[in-house]
Amino acid sequence: MRLLVIEDEKKMAGFLKKGLVESGYSVDTAASATAAETLASENEYDLIILDVMLPDSNGMDVARGLRSDGFKGPILMLTALSGTKDKVRGLDSGADDYLTKPFSFDELLARVRALLRRHDVGTESILRFSDLEMNLVTRQVTRAQNQITLTPKEFSLLEYLLRHPDRPISRTTISEHVWDVHFDTESNVIDVYVNMLRKKIDQPFKTKILHTVVGFGYVLREE
Ligand code: CA
Repeated sequence: MRLLVIEDEKKMAGFLKKGLVESGYSVDTAASATAAETLASENEYDLIILDVMLPDSNGMDVARGLRSDGFKGPILMLTALSGTKDKVRGLDSGADDYLTKPFSFDELLARVRALLRRHDVGTESILRFSDLEMNLVTRQVTRAQNQITLTPKEFSLLEYLLRHPDRPISRTTISEHVWDVHFDTESNVIDVYVNMLRKKIDQPFKTKILHTVVGFGYVLREE
């Protein structure tokens, strides 16, 4: 899942990015409304975290702008204002949820998960395909009840594939949802990660589920 964090306070933006990346999300950050608009028009984000106080605009206007530009994913607004009026204004402008600063990172993560779940109808906190299971809360992955240890990037890649089973996914789509803005489209980094993932989820098992679609990308399929 790829997230955009719009926050001008460097320390807060860095803290959010670090924690979210450690949790397996790909994260881009924007320090102004203008930078956010550019990133949102160029990339596909699954969720946007939006601070209400920005140097060149405010969160309400940014949320309205994102919606009128066609962004349909969840927007989580961060606000230092705890007045009911501001929360209502935030939700009215197109945000799906808000969190008042200061907040605990665990609560932010739980809200991010809940918002992604709500927007992705039918998705539970456990994703399953064949005898493979991924628990998004405990972050445990098992295949035929065997525990599998994945790096955050491998986890994120497998999560994206598990959310779109039986559907060939192009390398471009994978890069857009699993990598961030620094992704080098000329590199073979996706193939490298897919091979590392295969060694863990396929190689030790009889049935292979992660297949290459030649000249296109990859698919999770039971053959
Ligand atoms: Ca701010």
